[in-house]
Amino acid sequence: MFATITIPFPEYLGKGKATHVYLLKDENTVLIDTGLDSKENRTFIKNKLKELNISTIDYILLTHGHIDHFGLANYLQKEFGAEILIHKLDKDKLEDYRNAIKWFDENYELIIEGGYSREELNEIKNKLINVINMIELPESYRIYENLKLNIGRNTITSIHLPGHTPGSVGYSIDDTIFCGDAAIEGSTAIENFRRELDSLQKLKCFNNIYPSHKKIPLTRKDIEKLENHFIDRLEEIIKITKNGMRLKDIVIRIYGDKIYESPIRALIPIRQVISYLLYLEEEGYVIRKGYLWISTKDSL
Ligand SMILES: [Zn+2]
Ligand SMILES: [Zn+2]
Repeated sequence: MFATITIPFPEYLGKGKATHVYLLKDENTVLIDTGLDSKENRTFIKNKLKELNISTIDYILLTHGHIDHFGLANYLQKEFGAEILIHKLDKDKLEDYRNAIKWFDENYELIIEGGYSREELNEIKNKLINVINMIELPESYRIYENLKLNIGRNTITSIHLPGHTPGSVGYSIDDTIFCGDAAIEGSTAIENFRRELDSLQKLKCFNNIYPSHKKIPLTRKDIEKLENHFIDRLEEIIKITKNGMRLKDIVIRIYGDKIYESPIRALIPIRQVISYLLYLEEEGYVIRKGYLWISTKDSL
């Protein structure tokens, strides 16, 4: 019913990593996400599509506004004529990817007080800006809130799965869903942890869950495993912050102190830990005292 094309990350953005994109062929041809842009990837996807006898794409459905998902969209639109669609809450990312830096600026004090030096932050930020400057944003695209797309015998329905980003969606056909980054095996890059948990509940209604990274497909059991992984992480934070801890030390305890070559990868653990901490704070498990996070309970 569909073909999976796995698009590698260029080395500078994460060696050995890749994005699964999905090609659905009915009366219309649909590509769900596109993978990261690079000279090599343009040739790679063009050849793959040729192998699959695809000469036109009607729709590119984006699961969310991250570059490993929309990176090749502009190129593919020009080459294959596709209309690009994205949920309205991720529109700002397609308008101007520098919006990704906004989070950085908004949380500057929190990160500085958390123990990251200005030099360290500026280095990550400058690398990120370099990457952003190379990004080709799609020239035209359509936004929607709820999508029902008839592509022939099949109808694709969007399922809002916020958490990873505000406008994250899955695209469903019957009991199959292509869920983007709403669930990734053992991995958890998110903007809003509480919403992410709700989205995982929604995913459990599907029998076949196809994420954009790592293992495919995921089963309901895998989603439960992911929920347990989240609980373990929360428990770990509650445990290690018993006597108070700075953000940076929490990040290092959980993710190790390896400074990633890739600026985007360096940011993910920081964002992730902040999303856990804010959730635990809201739920009354941790409090903030100056630059320290302190747990107030022994466990969840
Ligand atoms: Zn993402
Ligand atoms: Zn991704």
